[in-house]
This record gives sequence, C-alpha cells and structure tokens, in this order.
Amino acid sequence: MTDNAVIVGAGVVGLATAHRLAQDGLTVTVVDAARAGAAGASVHNAGWIVPIMSTPVPAPGMLGKALRWMARRDSPLYVRPSPRPEHVRFMINMLRHCNPRAFAHGVEALTSLNERTLELFDEYEKDGIRFEHHRVGQLLAFTTRHTMEEYRAATAPMERIGHTAVPRTGDELRDLEPALGKQVLAGLHCPQERHVDPASLVKGLEDRCRELGVRFLYDSPVTGVGTRGRTVTSVLAGGDEVPGDLFVLAAGVHTGPLSRLAGHPLPIRPGKGYGFDDTSGAVNLRHSVYLGEAKVAVTPLSNRLRFAGTMEFGSSDATIDRHRLRGIADAAHTYLPDFPLEPQPQGWTGLRPMTPDGLPVVGPLPGKDNVLVASGHSMLGVTLAPVTADIISGEVSGDRPSADIARPFDPGRFAPQRRRSPAGG
Ligand SMILES: Cc1cc2nc3c(=O)[nH]c(=O)nc-3n(C[C@H](O)[C@H](O)[C@H](O)COP(=O)(O)OP(=O)(O)OC[C@H]3O[C@@H](n4cnc5c(N)ncnc54)[C@H](O)[C@@H]3O)c2cc1C
Repeated sequence: MTDNAVIVGAGVVGLATAHRLAQDGLTVTVVDAARAGAAGASVHNAGWIVPIMSTPVPAPGMLGKALRWMARRDSPLYVRPSPRPEHVRFMINMLRHCNPRAFAHGVEALTSLNERTLELFDEYEKDGIRFEHHRVGQLLAFTTRHTMEEYRAATAPMERIGHTAVPRTGDELRDLEPALGKQVLAGLHCPQERHVDPASLVKGLEDRCRELGVRFLYDSPVTGVGTRGRTVTSVLAGGDEVPGDLFVLAAGVHTGPLSRLAGHPLPIRPGKGYGFDDTSGAVNLRHSVYLGEAKVAVTPLSNRLRFAGTMEFGSSDATIDRHRLRGIADAAHTYLPDFPLEPQPQGWTGLRPMTPDGLPVVGPLPGKDNVLVASGHSMLGVTLAPVTADIISGEVSGDRPSADIARPFDPGRFAPQRRRSPAGG
C-alpha cells in the first residue's frame, strides 16, 4: 500500500503528477533544487498544447540537416562538438533512430499518448486550476509550398485523434493573421491546437496542489538515495532525509543523474532552447504561429509576444549564445516584417529533457520496486504533462487502463539487453 509519495522536481511534469496523486488521496511531498517559482524549462517554453506535433525529434534526414547547419551559429539545430563520452554516446544512439521505421513507431506512440490531452486540460479548469489558456488554434507559416507539403504529410497521422492541419495560401493565412508578411507563401491552419502561459500553468498547478495538501520543499537538491534491497526508503534533499513509500523522478534533464543515484542510469540529456519576450506591441497575433523553415514558435500571451526556438545539443548550462538569439529575431522579422531588427532582445534559455529515441520515459525504474520515472518529454513536456500524470497514477493504483498507450515509454527499453530493439532498421 502506497501512502506517502515523494516527487523530485517541481516542473510542469512533477507538479501535474503531484496534483494527480494528491487527487488520488496520497500524501505527497515535492522536492526541488531551485527556489519556488523557478522551475527550469517549464516556465521557459512556448506554451503550446500541440497534439498535432506528435513527432519525435530524431527523424529521417536529421543528420544531413545537422551537418549542413554545423557551420551556422544562428541555425535552428546545432550539435556542439564535445568529446564527453556521454554526449557522443547519446548522439550516436539518436542517429540510430533517424530512420523511417523508428520515426513511424514514435509518431504512432506519441499520437496515441496525445489522444486525451485536450480533455485533460479541460479537466484542469473544471478542477479549479487557474492558468492562462487560449483555445484559438495555430498557424504554421512557410516561405515555400514544398515545406508546407512536408509538414502536411507529417501531420496526417494525427487526424485519427481529431487534430487537423488544413492547407492555406499565403493570402488566406494573412486573412487570419494580417501581421504575416508577403514572404509567407503557404501554410497550415490547425484549429484544435491551443496555447497557455506556461508560468501561469506552473503556478496554477502548484496553488491547487497546496490546496490539496501537497508539501513543497524548495532549495533542496536531491544528492543521495537511501535504499533497502530493491526499495528506495528516502532521498537526501538539501541535507535532510525525506522518507517515502514511493518516489517519482521528474527532474527534467537532471533525471539522468538521479536515475544513476537510484541504481539505473537513463540516457536523458539536455536539448537547449532559446527565447525572448517582446512587450513592444510592434506585432499583434491571435493564434500561435510557427515560422516553419526557421523552426521558431511565436506565442501571443496576455501581456507579451513570446518567441522560442533552437535545439542545441552538447550544452547544459544557461549561457546565451547571442548568435542563436539573433537567428530567432531575424526569423521573426522575415515572417512578421513589423517586428523590428533592433534592439537585440534580452533572451532566456530552457533545457529540454531529450532521449535518444525522442520518446518520453514514463513508468517503473528497472531494478527498484518503488521508483517511477516521468521525464524525457523533449519538445512536448507541457502538452504531455497531464497524460503523464495519468499514467503514473495508474502505475501507483494498479488500475492501468492506459497500459497499452504507456508501453512505448517504459524506462525498461533502455535496459542493456533491449538496447537494440527500438532503433529498428
Ligand atoms: C525553447 C523551448 C520551447 C518549448 N516549447 C514547448 C511547447 O510549446 N510545448 C510543450 O509542450 N513543450 C515545450 N517545451 C518543452 C517543455 O518545456 C519541457 O519538455 C518541459 O518543461 C519539461 O518539464 P519537466 O517538468 O520534465 O522539467 P523541468 O521544467 O526542467 O523541471 C525539472 C525540475 O527539477 C528540478 N531538479 C533538477 N534536479 C534536481 C535535483 N537533483 N533535486 C531536486 N530537484 C531537481 C529543477 O529545479 C526543476 O524545477 C519547450 C522547451 C523549450 C526549451
């Protein structure tokens, strides 16, 4: 019988899990290394709720793109050369998944996982969680018809869960969003997609958790794990021992080192993103807009326009490469000509928890009877937080209606004897 759950990580995934387990009647403690309200990538992201983007990052052709872009310091995808063995191993493993079979498997798994996403966000509101939530749809804008067609084909599998991408001409897109410039020649309109203010979602979840009696320990980095055989008995957090019957590792990019402490290292590595917030009012949008070729997300929030993009591997701190930020601002100006090229915006960064196969890691940690993992959500952590919490709840209660949906995300797929299977041919 599990009464006392300890969740490591107060990002959107840890908080969604805490909320769900508290609803289930468990006594829940959340421990986090940072101070309150400073959750890593969970506040620094584009805030899109996008089942239409149920695609893993490793994709056929990614290697070619990465190599072409290596020389460009403002490119949307960058693999920083690094001799660190864990980085090299991770990148090689990711390249093994850049094939059509592994990609199709990932799309199928993520699409099924996203089937109830919108319903679960609606349930948040019904439960009294307060957050900035926009149900206005999304536009994908392209400067070539060819790229639009590529994306259109990629979004076809999501039709079966009710998410559609309707082709539009440049002028039709400008009817929906007049700020888009003449360079935009084609696009897709995705009416079911939504966006949130991610910081408001984190705050809303934490507030509701507190109402449900969840205890929070901030400034408490987990540095040790107490064990008895196959059971974890406590974590050492900020120097204090925090006991529990069940432990959930939801520490974003730090879930890798934590899983090592718990006895089974998982390959979760950072994929750094950049962004900035514009409060000038130079550009007004209603929909969230994807600047397709530049891979930049633009999100209209109540008091600002948020720009986010770039996937940088091999970098694990918050330093800002001005060239990458410049790349996002230049793209903004290209697609949205009223966005000024100067001044250079003040940026922020966020570290996405990446896995070599591009799929989240959700379920029991091999070798331990009472440790669950909820991490590795890559570009979709906000979107997938509620359904992740649902799966963890099913694991704890033993009532697992979503067991089939959860199987592709089992942490056991990274156990050494099974390492060959997910990559496919
Ligand atoms: C630029 C950018 C744009 C994005 N846009 C979107 C989007 O539009 N839609 C979407 O769905 N997703 C998006 N994402 C992805 C999303 O932000 C992440 O997948 C998600 O935030 C991961 O949440 P998390 O809770 O797993 O990790 P985090 O938010 O990183 O939280 C982990 C927490 O664990 C804590 N922690 C770490 N180590 C320890 C330790 N040892 N002890 C205790 N606590 C610890 C940290 O302090 C942190 O608070 C984007 C990401 C980036 C960077």
